[in-house]
Amino acid sequence: MLPSVPVPPRPLQDYLEIVGEAAVEELRAAARALSGARILNLNSTAFGGGVAELLVTHVGLLNELGLDAHWQVINGRSEFFTVTKFAHAGLQGAEVPWTEDMIRVYEEQCEENADELGGEYDFVIVHDPQPAGILPVIEERGRRKGHWVWRCHLDLSESFQPIWTYLAGHVAHYDAAVFTMQEFEPAGLDGPRIFIIPPSIDPLSSKNQWMDAETVYETIHRYGVQWNRPIVTQVSRFDPAKDPLGVIDAYRLAKREVPDLQLVLIGSMAHDDPEGWHYLEVTERHRSDDPDIFLLSNVQGVGNLEVNAFQRDSTVVLQKSLREGFGLTVSEALWKGTPVIGGNVGGIRLQIEDGEDGFLVESPEQCADRMLRLLGDPDELARMGRRGHEIVRERFLTFRELRDILEMLAALA
Ligand code: UDP
Repeated sequence: MLPSVPVPPRPLQDYLEIVGEAAVEELRAAARALSGARILNLNSTAFGGGVAELLVTHVGLLNELGLDAHWQVINGRSEFFTVTKFAHAGLQGAEVPWTEDMIRVYEEQCEENADELGGEYDFVIVHDPQPAGILPVIEERGRRKGHWVWRCHLDLSESFQPIWTYLAGHVAHYDAAVFTMQEFEPAGLDGPRIFIIPPSIDPLSSKNQWMDAETVYETIHRYGVQWNRPIVTQVSRFDPAKDPLGVIDAYRLAKREVPDLQLVLIGSMAHDDPEGWHYLEVTERHRSDDPDIFLLSNVQGVGNLEVNAFQRDSTVVLQKSLREGFGLTVSEALWKGTPVIGGNVGGIRLQIEDGEDGFLVESPEQCADRMLRLLGDPDELARMGRRGHEIVRERFLTFRELRDILEMLAALA
């Protein structure tokens, strides 16, 4: 059996104050149409990265809404995750190797995972490329039941064609494919019905819930960061697409004018991301012993509460990605009233309205320029922080996303 991730329930009434009675009622109504349905979410890691973040909340709330929701995680040897990491980078536009051997590693693991997949479900939602190849195996074995959805969290708008062509062969088996933005829908995907559903954040998760100022200061102090000096933070896996080196370059440019500036880079090490350790080293070298750059991760005990504190107390949050499916970290920071400077790519563009709740940038120089502008203007910071909180409240909270998902499942049923 594939490992099941236990998820604590999330009481619906706790959200009343934030989302209002009408939103709770709408969600209940959407769930009634599917009452008792067995839903499985399948992905490649129980922690680290955006999908795991989403599923904790989704599965907890779906069960509370009277559905029978589950979450299983695929198994994978490290060579499998090395292959899927290449596929991930290729799907987001990098020209990477894609050989017969790599395909064999991928397909063998998909076969093993298909055989280990337990339970019977009305709906199976498969996230991202790692488990996508399981469905064709299940079909071959004559075990296909229920409706199968492939949800892609990546930006496929400029995929490296050999990899997408290969993966599309698997995706064609699904009843539905879900993308974060219309622009990510690849041309010529015949078969699945297409749905567009942007992700969201849970305002009551330990990462996003309200925190008192004293706890925030204590947390930040524990890591040696000084709360009374300006802080810019980026929270993301150590991955070239997140451009931590570009973030350090931007910080160095800004520091020439704001000498007490501090940079915090927080990245979690996930088991489906073998490149993370290597890229942490690369980033560490680029840091070159600057005592005002803090490289933190779950290895030093930086978890949800710590991320919450840093996003809350930073003067500005960065998400300077070069490619980005969505970038939950953007909404996480905006929700806390912290403006975000983000790369002008993918799903970041859904969340940042340039000049309203942050800035969209295309280079370290532009990033430094916008940092300086915000660091020097507390009124602008406060105005953008308020606007960011409102944008997230309107568009990027869990209830909107769950309603979209339930409506999609009802349409498929
Ligand atoms: N995250 C975290 N600790 C870290 C790095 C990331 O908790 O050290 C979380 C982050 O807060 C966000 C998720 O992991 O909730 C990353 O999601 P995002 O959509 O930004 O990027 P992905 O990793 O899925 O590409």
